Amino acid sequence: MVDDNWQSGAAWMRGEIMPIANAAIPVTDWGLTHSDITYDVVHVWDGRFFRMDDYLERFEQSLEKCRLSIPQSRDEIRDILHNIVARSGLQRSYVSVVASRGQPKILGSRDPRDCENHFYAWCVPFVWVFLEDVVARGAHLLVPEQVERISPGSVDPTAKNYHWGDFTQGLIDAKEAGYDNTLLLDRDGNVTEGPGFNVFMVKDGKVTTPRSGVLQGITRKVAMEICAHHGLTCEESDIPFEAFLQADEVFATTTGGGAVPITRVNQRIFSNDAIGPLTRKISDTYWDWHNDPAMSEAVRYEGNSYLS
Ligand SMILES: *Cc1c(COP(=O)(O)O)cnc(C)c1O
Repeated sequence: MVDDNWQSGAAWMRGEIMPIANAAIPVTDWGLTHSDITYDVVHVWDGRFFRMDDYLERFEQSLEKCRLSIPQSRDEIRDILHNIVARSGLQRSYVSVVASRGQPKILGSRDPRDCENHFYAWCVPFVWVFLEDVVARGAHLLVPEQVERISPGSVDPTAKNYHWGDFTQGLIDAKEAGYDNTLLLDRDGNVTEGPGFNVFMVKDGKVTTPRSGVLQGITRKVAMEICAHHGLTCEESDIPFEAFLQADEVFATTTGGGAVPITRVNQRIFSNDAIGPLTRKISDTYWDWHNDPAMSEAVRYEGNSYLS
């Protein structure tokens, strides 16, 4: 298959850069057969990677937690990411780094140690986790009754992963009921997170986000920095769903859109069905910070070693 549509994205696999449509992994890879894989997503906004080291550091921690080992150093990964984005020419991009357990060297082996861990990376045009019109009006989330978040004792949510059985069931329920997205509770009825986003609540000017049982989102971290920057109190703590529903405003954080207003959860309508003032402030600062050279680096589009 030959596809030279680079604008759709590019991938790096086994030392080669290819159009995204040609990137594939073998059917016997444990990443596919056992969701035995970890990944991370960094974004390029107007030609600059945002907070790349935060993401790559989290990826390294995820590798350790999953006991995956890859030969590429952080600087090699950084180069690969510059090269694929440069090859695609994308100015706004969703850029994924992935490490799977890989294929067993001995065919049919059930021993994870027999697998050759496999690193690859790919980029596509920027992905909005909430569509842009949803970001503008505020997202509507369903907390499904039957689906709870996978226990952190089973699958560590702090290592970004493909175990989406819970999220996918929640998403199907949400879409069928006319909601944009889903938000899951843990077994104790505390708020956790949704597919690809963390959540925050604001009550009497105080900002709170779930303490545990969630991915430590980079956008979550940046949102906490933004709160400190504006002198807002921001805490990590358990949030029972009943307390969450009492919030003055709620928002999501994700690499795929920054701080995104949530205006409805189940039957509850927040901040008069409009974007809350603190959500607006945090979102505005988030995008402002993309122009700060201390927090971003320019994609090396020119003089790229993979380009002739
Ligand atoms: C990626 C992700 C998030 C958000 O993390 P960011 O680093 O801010 O993009 C939250 N929860 C889950 C389950 C995720 O996969």
